[in-house]
Amino acid sequence: MPKTILIDTSRCTACRGCQIACKEWHELPANKTTQYKWGSHQNPQDLNPNNYKLVRFSEHLEGDKIRWNFFPDQCRHCDLAPCKETGDIYIEEAIVQDEKTGAVIFTDKTKGFTKEQSEEIRESCPYNIPRRNDESGLMSKCTMCNDRIHNGMLPACVKVCPTGAMQFGDRADMLKLANQRLAALRLEYPEARLADPDDVNVIYLLIDKPENYHEFTVAEANTGSMSKKQFLATLARPFKAMKA
Ligand code: SF4
Ligand code: SF4
Ligand code: SF4
Repeated sequence: MPKTILIDTSRCTACRGCQIACKEWHELPANKTTQYKWGSHQNPQDLNPNNYKLVRFSEHLEGDKIRWNFFPDQCRHCDLAPCKETGDIYIEEAIVQDEKTGAVIFTDKTKGFTKEQSEEIRESCPYNIPRRNDESGLMSKCTMCNDRIHNGMLPACVKVCPTGAMQFGDRADMLKLANQRLAALRLEYPEARLADPDDVNVIYLLIDKPENYHEFTVAEANTGSMSKKQFLATLARPFKAMKA
């Protein structure tokens, strides 16, 4: 059974412990802060090859009240991963999926993708996740800490979260927990919902409308009017036909 991370945004305080733990475990270098005053505590401004995890900050007005939402963004480890579908057209198995855990992994073979192919892979991701290191050519993103999981450990970000916002376990258990929390939160937050729970293995529990977190909170933002299932089913066909 695949593994699943449940991220309950109602419990996230934006401490960024998860963001730092991810960098530490993966030995990712610091980013030079280039812009101090862009009106947000979010730092860095976006995901990049040195940040597989980014706590996004979003402020908006609700009536006369300011609402501040936090969203610890990362790869969703899609069941049927569009990034892999697209990558396989150019280099088979440069992007792989672990059958046991469901983790979608970008291997060193991704260095073989051209810049344009890498961009196509990024654009195929409904959540705008993978990034390319323009110096090495390597594409990267969250690994679900697959190495830790296979050694009986929690993903680094889950391990350090001090509020219980992040939980990890078998998919069925996490879905049950997600639905229990959702039922409780709906009493206070009518907009509460799960983000694409049928399609992904990193499930977000939202307490506000998806667009009030960031642009790519749910798949619909990148798949137009199609359902995500339709999108996934049709994504690679024209490219595969062209290649043949
Ligand atoms: Fe690939 Fe994006 Fe899905 Fe992650 S979220 S598995 S990068 S398509
Ligand atoms: Fe980073 Fe691991 Fe968490 Fe993914 S699961 S965001 S790689 S710490
Ligand atoms: Fe939120 Fe937990 Fe990450 Fe802190 S460690 S930012 S509380 S998810």
